[in-house]
Amino acid sequence: MNCLVCGSGTVEESFETYFAKLETGYLIIENVPCFKCSQCGESFFSMSVTEKIEELVAAYKKNASKVSVIDYNKAA
Ligand SMILES: [Zn+2]
Repeated sequence: MNCLVCGSGTVEESFETYFAKLETGYLIIENVPCFKCSQCGESFFSMSVTEKIEELVAAYKKNASKVSVIDYNKAA
């Protein structure tokens, strides 16, 4: 699969830390599976991963703590 951004790099399976800014603080999701371009470094999430991230962000939106750090594998 070729990169959608630079068009010439090869996209490989990798892991990424996802940062989300919430109204009350930040949500950091570690070890999120993604596809990363070997050339430009751009990373992409699959549709199911994107949906899971949105679910987690919605669940933590009203969380009172400033910064929440969770592990994707434990949350999924
Ligand atoms: Zn690329």
